[in-house]
Amino acid sequence: MTTFGERLRKARKRKGLSQMDVFDAVGVSNKALSRYENGDAAPNPETLKRLIRLYDVSSEYILGLTAEMGRSADNSPEGENLIDMTDNRASAEKLIAFISASPTAFHAVDNISRKLSNEGFTKLNEWENWDIEKGGKYFITRNGSAVLAFKVGEGDPSGFNIFAAHCDSPTFKLKPGAELETIDHYIRLNTEVYGGGIMSSWLDRPLSIAGRIAFSTPNGIKTQLINLENTTVVIPNVAIHMQRQINDGFTFNPQVDTIPLFGSEKSKGGLMRAVAEAAGVKEKDVLGVDLYLYNKTPGAVWGAEGEYVSSPRLDDLQCAYAGLSGFLAGGNRDTVSLLAIFDNEEVGSRTIQGADSDFLLSAVERICAALGKSKAQTLPNSFALSADNAHAVHPNHPEYADPQNRPFMNGGIVIKFNARQSYATDGVSAAIFKKICAAVGVPVQTFANRSDKPGGGTLGNISATRLSIPTADIGLAQLAMHSCYETAGSMDTLYLERAAAEFFRTKLTRLDLSPDGGYELEA
Ligand SMILES: [Zn+2]
Repeated sequence: MTTFGERLRKARKRKGLSQMDVFDAVGVSNKALSRYENGDAAPNPETLKRLIRLYDVSSEYILGLTAEMGRSADNSPEGENLIDMTDNRASAEKLIAFISASPTAFHAVDNISRKLSNEGFTKLNEWENWDIEKGGKYFITRNGSAVLAFKVGEGDPSGFNIFAAHCDSPTFKLKPGAELETIDHYIRLNTEVYGGGIMSSWLDRPLSIAGRIAFSTPNGIKTQLINLENTTVVIPNVAIHMQRQINDGFTFNPQVDTIPLFGSEKSKGGLMRAVAEAAGVKEKDVLGVDLYLYNKTPGAVWGAEGEYVSSPRLDDLQCAYAGLSGFLAGGNRDTVSLLAIFDNEEVGSRTIQGADSDFLLSAVERICAALGKSKAQTLPNSFALSADNAHAVHPNHPEYADPQNRPFMNGGIVIKFNARQSYATDGVSAAIFKKICAAVGVPVQTFANRSDKPGGGTLGNISATRLSIPTADIGLAQLAMHSCYETAGSMDTLYLERAAAEFFRTKLTRLDLSPDGGYELEA
């Protein structure tokens, strides 16, 4: 028989609420709630009523008169473990807003940094001394396109809980002096491919340009983000009458077929004029640019029951967004919670702001030093989730999926496996992640490539070679990965938000077993 406190805790967990969420919703403090859940005190009838309403649980269950939790689980096939997903549309709309405000990796990091500042995180600089205190919240950025945020537990942090994702997506980068010579009255922009995108998805749709510029100042240079929202460019298809074979398959030449049209000869010089104007600087002072095309089509929630969300850049901003949300909600007094959002995953991660850099390693070393901990001892007590989207079974091509591991959208979080360790997951890290998801009623599913299809890589095994921490590679099921308009499940973002929050609330302690690989999990 469970105790009153345990039932209260279970009902809260089923609803996916942190103690902080409860405080925000009904004003019961963390301390009071801990005392109720630990059986050290009982709430008064008025408070109890508010908690029962908030948890959407039957009062008979809380009072121990029945083992059925009731209410939000009434219609669920898995009983008390399934979370209430009525919020999925709201969560998907928030995801769309986040992605719209993040047309490039630079903007995504700026967007995340602003959210962290609003939540009271202190910005540190890598080139300065760090004054890190227990209970403190900090973040650093590198190149303006990668960000690490961390919360130091106020107790005795013995390990790191790390959630990693990436914020770049396949696109086209403008080359220097991007305006091509006027030909047949047209001005086009010279671009090259960034990442492995689906080329055809970029044609015949409104695109725009965003990124970062570096401009001259009297004493040096400064950088600024720009988004040419009022500029539209289009990569036009050739009419079928001039290429009858188009529907039989097509090979794109990136120097010919994917060059966007900017304007007529009247717009000569207009690109850099627009850039300088957007930045509020003189055109002659713009000394360097990192500009990318992005899809202007806004995201949408759709499907007969609102099951799906389509948007540019779901890979991997969906995971970055959910990780951030879980990171802000979670935390444990005896761990360091760390969120890592890297750039350049789509081009191999081997840049100073990519997963294959010393960005995370050097931050971890500095945090260990500040806490007086040995890195060698702390890392084995740490755990990482590498979150990058996964392939859902395709409705028209189910044959591309593995016969047994067939993720579907809204089916929960995908755990990714690969024998060659393109994904870092193994039996132990999968078990840990399943246990964390089960604690908050989040379903999981598994992915493995068909053995005759090589599949892609991701962050987990790359950062693991830099920083040897047990890792699970996970993601959310989606269609059309690397199209400029991708589709995912509208519920899955919320699943990952909840699982990430629970991950950050969980302290993992290694057990001395043979063979090793045993852990104790405490939330
Ligand atoms: Zn990805």
